[in-house]
Order: sequence, then structure tokens, then C-alpha cells
Amino acid sequence: MPTTFDDATLSALRDAMGADRLRQDVPLAPFTTFKIGGPADWFYEARTADQLATAVRTARALGIRHFLLGTGANILIGDLGFRGLVIRNAARHRTVRPERHQLWVESGAIMWPDIIETAVAAGLSGLEHYVGIPSTVGGALWQNLHFLSPPPERARTMYIEEVLLEADLLTEDTERRTVDVDYFNFGYDQSILHERDDVVLSATFQLEPGDPERMRAIIAANLAWRSERHPPLDTEPSAGSIFQKIEGVGAGRLIDECGLLGCRIGGAEVTHRHANIIINRENATAADVRALIDHVQTTVERETGYHLTPEISFIGDFAPPTASAPYFVPKPPDVLTAKERAQRGKEQRDAIERKT
Ligand SMILES: Cc1cc2nc3c(=O)[nH]c(=O)nc-3n(C[C@H](O)[C@H](O)[C@H](O)COP(=O)(O)OP(=O)(O)OC[C@H]3O[C@@H](n4cnc5c(N)ncnc54)[C@H](O)[C@@H]3O)c2cc1C
Repeated sequence: MPTTFDDATLSALRDAMGADRLRQDVPLAPFTTFKIGGPADWFYEARTADQLATAVRTARALGIRHFLLGTGANILIGDLGFRGLVIRNAARHRTVRPERHQLWVESGAIMWPDIIETAVAAGLSGLEHYVGIPSTVGGALWQNLHFLSPPPERARTMYIEEVLLEADLLTEDTERRTVDVDYFNFGYDQSILHERDDVVLSATFQLEPGDPERMRAIIAANLAWRSERHPPLDTEPSAGSIFQKIEGVGAGRLIDECGLLGCRIGGAEVTHRHANIIINRENATAADVRALIDHVQTTVERETGYHLTPEISFIGDFAPPTASAPYFVPKPPDVLTAKERAQRGKEQRDAIERKT
């Protein structure tokens, strides 16, 4: 069997992680929201924060190539997979500290529904804005999870940093350390985790006592808002927004203006529902997605002068982008584009104004 590790390395990995828990040649597509990606040579699932720390510490000590995987919602994994060790973070313990209005969670805990439901059931408010976003807590801090909330005004983007009190890290220097929110140097889609190889082991959120009815209303409104605008993950897998936002311009708007809605290469398609989202329509490969990303970038740059930068990370080994020419698929009748939604909203507002 092909392996990237020699016998001594494998034996050390097995000793540290348990021979039965270290799996070989594991397809990664099922562990991503895109449902795309080849196999990991080696794969380990950490079920506690201590196991996560041990796995990363061991991989570092042995000098082996490794990648830490959350829910795989912000990445594209190459068709040739990952030569090395993928550590999937399934450390999901959580504890409410009601007297302090705090929630402590391991970093593999799933934001929605798990920890948001835990917080809301305990009457604690602050996390309910992020319903419906696929993410572990670690991924949320890596990216500074954000959403336009609260409804109905949606006056601003809210960020997970606003409720983060502190986090336990395995630092780049392989030390365990508790850091406060300032350490993360958060920005839009940005944190220190992009620059330093720190691993979040657990986090403590400082929440506030909340009105259960109001929290439930926010959850319902935000889920409805998302389902109107985003392709459903179970039937139209994606990695969310593909390109970084361009302040005051909008990456999606540029893509729409260039007539790229419904553009398809292989099984990858710019969905009519949301110009900045590419979906895996029909067994798309990473090579299809890469070719479509290249095509969108080239077209938008040629037509508008703006350069679109991917927001997602490219992980593992990639085959060359698919060479076949792009073509267009028509909009399904039941799907509304952003322009059509805006037009319908305006008509509804006008109708209400006429009545009053
Ligand atoms: C349908 C859809 C809708 C989305 N909507 C939104 C949205 O509204 N707002 C938003 O902000 N994002 C959105 N996203 C993007 C995505 O959900 C977030 O970026 C999410 O935080 C990714 O978390 P993850 O656990 O899947 O991370 P992964 O994709 O698995 O990993 C992303 C990066 O984080 C690193 N990482 C993961 N865990 C840790 C850890 N414990 N310590 C250090 N590094 C770590 C990984 O190594 C990797 O580099 C959306 C995605 C999808 C598919």
C-alpha cells in the first residue's frame, strides 16, 4: 500500500493516537460541504481537545504534513487528495456556566444547531445570529464568523468576536495557552490564525441573558433569510461565498453583471440563486471548480477591471483545471435571482404603501 510515512513514523503515530483510530486512504469529500476532494493518506478523528492537542503535537514533532479539518465549509480539497495526515476535529464537549452567563465549548463543537441550541435552551443570547452557517467553533474563530443581523433591520454585520471571551490554544510553539479576544486580531474574514499556526482547543463565549421568544424569532428570521438566498446544502453542495467581498462593489454583483449566472464547467455551476456561490451540481470535481473560478476571475477582470480573490482555501493536491469550455444552464422557474428578489421586495413594499 502506498504511504507517505515510513514505518518508524507510522509506529509513532499509532502509539500516540491509537492504532485502531488511525485510518488509511480515507475519502475526504464526505467531510466537506462541497462534497468534493480525494482521499487523505492518513486520517484521524480527535474526539476531545486533549486528543486534538496530542495529534497536532505528534504530527509537528514527527515533521509530517498535516491539516486540521472542521466541517470543511470554507475549503476546496483537490481531487488527488492529501498526502499526509488529516486531523478532523470532532471534540464537541460543552458546558454552560449559568451563573456567569458563559458557554465553554471544545473547538470541534458544531455552531448550528449544537452550541446555538445549548445557549438558547440555557436562556443565553449572542450566538443565535449565526444559525444555519456550517462551522465548528475553531473554524468560526479562524474566519471570524459573521452575519447581517439582527432582523428585521439587519443594520450591520455581527461577528463572533463580539461574544468571545477567551480561548485555549496549542500555540505555534506547541505550548498550551489561554488568550483573550484581542489576541486574535480579528477583522472581516480574518484572524491571527491565518498568520500563525495556532490551534484553537476550546473557547469560552460571554453571553447575555436573553428573551427566549426574541431569540427564537431571530433564529426563524435568519434561517428564512438564508434559505431564500442560499442554495440548499443537502441538494446543492457548496462552500458558501467563493470570492472575498469587495467593499462597496460586491463580488456577486460583478459576477451577475458579467452575465455569469448559470455558467457551468463540468459539474460545477455558478448558481442562479447567488452569483458568488458555486455549487456542485453533478459530481463536480475540484478541477471543474478550479476551472470555473479561473473563468469567472478572467471574465470579471476583463469586463470590469476588478480582480476577484478566492475566499476559500485550497487544500491538498490538485489535478489541472478542467479544459472543457464553459456553457450556460437556464434558470429553474422556481429559483429567484438576487435582482428578482429585490424587485419582488420593492413591489411588496409599494403595495403596502398604497394600502396605508
Ligand atoms: C452554505 C454556506 C454558507 C456560509 N455562510 C457563511 C456566513 O454567513 N458567514 C460566514 O462567516 N461564513 C459563512 N460560510 C463559510 C463557513 O461556514 C465558515 O468559514 C466556517 O467558519 C468554516 O468552519 P469549518 O469548521 O467548516 O472550517 P474548515 O472549512 O474545516 O476549515 C477552515 C480553516 O479553519 C482552520 N481551522 C479549523 N478549525 C480550527 C481550529 N480549531 N484551530 C485553528 N484553525 C482551525 C482549518 O485548518 C482551515 O484552515 C458559509 C459556508 C457555507 C458552505
